[in-house]
Amino acid sequence: MHAIAPLPDGKMPDIGFIDEMGWLMVWGTTLLFVDAILIILLYQKLGRYLRQAQFARILICVACVLTFDQAGFFTALHFVAGAPIAVFFGGWFAKMVAALTFSAMLVAYLRWFEARDVPLPRGLTDIFETLTYRERYEALVEHVGRDGLTGLLHRGRFDADGEAAVEVSLRTARPLSLLIIDVDHFKSINDRFGHAEGDKVLKAVAALLREVASVEDQVFRIGGEEFAILSSRPHPVARLFGESIRYAVKASTVTSRFELTVSAGVSSVSETTTCLGDLFALADQRLYKAKSTGRDRIVGEPGSHEPDTAIAWTKSAQF
Ligand code: GH3
Ligand code: MG
Ligand code: MG
Repeated sequence: MHAIAPLPDGKMPDIGFIDEMGWLMVWGTTLLFVDAILIILLYQKLGRYLRQAQFARILICVACVLTFDQAGFFTALHFVAGAPIAVFFGGWFAKMVAALTFSAMLVAYLRWFEARDVPLPRGLTDIFETLTYRERYEALVEHVGRDGLTGLLHRGRFDADGEAAVEVSLRTARPLSLLIIDVDHFKSINDRFGHAEGDKVLKAVAALLREVASVEDQVFRIGGEEFAILSSRPHPVARLFGESIRYAVKASTVTSRFELTVSAGVSSVSETTTCLGDLFALADQRLYKAKSTGRDRIVGEPGSHEPDTAIAWTKSAQF
């Protein structure tokens, strides 16, 4: 749309080719889009025959698609600008060199930088998902290890992360405490109000635990109505933390139809509890004691249960 200025010798330049190039660019870009889809389809198809021969698989794929691309682009160039057949072969030769170079680079990348797993062949509709596989993979990693109902970390993660946390605690002499929290008379909630109400309570308790936990605490759902928290608080503080959870559950407005309470057992890494199994057994034993002595209570190490002791400890720990 610009005004055309005459050349220094007074002649008007012929820029009609600009219009032709415009259409060629649209055509070329369309071809690139088709190429991108085609290369994935072909790669997947070839997987059936060439799974072990990765270089051949990629090279055939790229060479075929680039030949198709060159044929498509040359045809347009020939009809629009009258390009001779030598243009086809010149471009094709350059593209084959590119195919060889990029295939070698890709194989080197896959061999030395990526995991060597070859993905399973998938259906046609999966193309766009394949293009974003890393995002899907990350979402999957985040999802795996979490409990479906509450979104908390699940039992498998507790066993793995718990063992690692105990090791770190022993090595660095930093405190580590475990709280096992169990909803009281949960079965009767299910029996009286139905499983849906029971599930609602579990979700609400999970949300509450997540809310009161600090960023350093890890919250797990380790059974039906049993939760665990791994915390770097020392024993008296962890026990006090248990008390604050107990109050928070009691004061929560999950339901007005009945009073919701929890009991918990608390244990900490010490000279006698040096693995996750010991820690768990002790917390479980204390949880059992909390249940058998009336529920709605937190049981920790004998002597650490007076809130005054814990509060004094917390205050002294601040200085
Ligand atoms: P206690 O105070 O001694 O802990 O008694 P309780 O009734 O809470 O404990 P019990 O172990 O007898 O019952 C636990 C119940 O939790 C039994 C089971 O039906 C229920 N439950 C387990 N998982 C789920 C779940 O995902 N959803 C629902 N709604 N209920 C569950
Ligand atoms: Mg229970
Ligand atoms: Mg239970």
